[in-house]
Amino acid sequence: MEINKNYLNLEASYLFSTIAKKVNEYSEKNPDKNIIRLGIGDVTLPLCGAVVDAMKTATEEMGVQETFRGYGPEQGYDFLKSAIKDYYKSHSVDLESDEIFISDGAKSDLGNILDILGTNNTVMVQNPVYPVYVDTNIMAGRKIVYSDCNEENGFLSMPSEDVKADIIYLCSPNNPTGAVYNREQLSEWVNYAIKNNALILFDAAYECFISDETLPRSIYEIEGAKKCAIEFCSLSKTAGFTGTRCGYTVVPDSLIYDGVSLNKLWLRRQTTKFNGVPYIVQKGAAAVFTPQGQKEIAENIGYYKENAKIIMKALDELGIWYTGGANSPYIWLKCPDNMKSWEFFDYLLNNMQIVGTPGVGFGTNGEGYFRLTSFGSREKTIEAMDRLLNYSLAVK
Ligand code: PLP
Repeated sequence: MEINKNYLNLEASYLFSTIAKKVNEYSEKNPDKNIIRLGIGDVTLPLCGAVVDAMKTATEEMGVQETFRGYGPEQGYDFLKSAIKDYYKSHSVDLESDEIFISDGAKSDLGNILDILGTNNTVMVQNPVYPVYVDTNIMAGRKIVYSDCNEENGFLSMPSEDVKADIIYLCSPNNPTGAVYNREQLSEWVNYAIKNNALILFDAAYECFISDETLPRSIYEIEGAKKCAIEFCSLSKTAGFTGTRCGYTVVPDSLIYDGVSLNKLWLRRQTTKFNGVPYIVQKGAAAVFTPQGQKEIAENIGYYKENAKIIMKALDELGIWYTGGANSPYIWLKCPDNMKSWEFFDYLLNNMQIVGTPGVGFGTNGEGYFRLTSFGSREKTIEAMDRLLNYSLAVK
């Protein structure tokens, strides 16, 4: 019996465990201090009423003989696929129902999609990067190349003939940097993928935070993308489904490589290895797309966006460089006074009792940068920024 030795090539991730350790040590030594966490990547507001009501009704249905349901379609119920289709249509993207696959979240599909792609492909990820893209490919033994994101390119790397790859990961709005590609930039990536017979894996998990209407929410708003891109999205950040679990992946019928339809391969993969998302959850998910659901989630997203504005305002006042915030829940800032990421982490924790995420934890290009998120409470976000402003102005 041989294990998958590729797993031995994974690097242990100490990012969140080191943060927890440092925070615990600090709290033990300073029990009277009130620590504010602005590093969380999870939502904090509850599910909206429309979703809760729909799930209650669906639960009732499951307890009645006539409306009980067992296994559902592996690709998701038509009522949810058609709601998602209409949602795409609202930003001018036409999809066929069979191109939409319902899943238990973007993370699973981002990992699972690799089942249908050859292991000899070279993979391009950006640096800094959401670590799932890297680790899932290391597990399969694929070669990974990095595309540099930095202050010069606004943390939005562009295609380069020097960094060639068969599989290209793009995440916009980006985690961790909050940077968002515009149409021209995404067009360049699409043209590059088509020219090089590459496949783009487009992670749109944060699309709902885009309020600038000139920015694309879906890669399919770009001409040609249906020939070279798979899109992953999720209700996790859109509607607070991080614990409820529901996402969707779009695999266009026109994605043909080696004469084979990726849609058909993915259908085969899903019907073989996945038995679908619970009916109750899919009913809750469908409620997100109703007029009432849209109104209610807009309020929650608006709350996080207001938090982001509060953080951005403080950084503007202090003259600190950052990306993100405007169309993303993440704010990626340059550590002041040339501090390194962990130095700034300690500085914030020890002097202001604010916890964020060191940028270097997302890749070498994150060194000297830091991620704050807008998922905290309003009160705590305001308090944290007051502390930052007061402390920074006092030491100057
Ligand atoms: N993609 C990105 C960029 C994320 O940041 C996350 C979660 O934080 C996910 C995907 C996973 O989301 P889900 O909860 O749908 O699995």
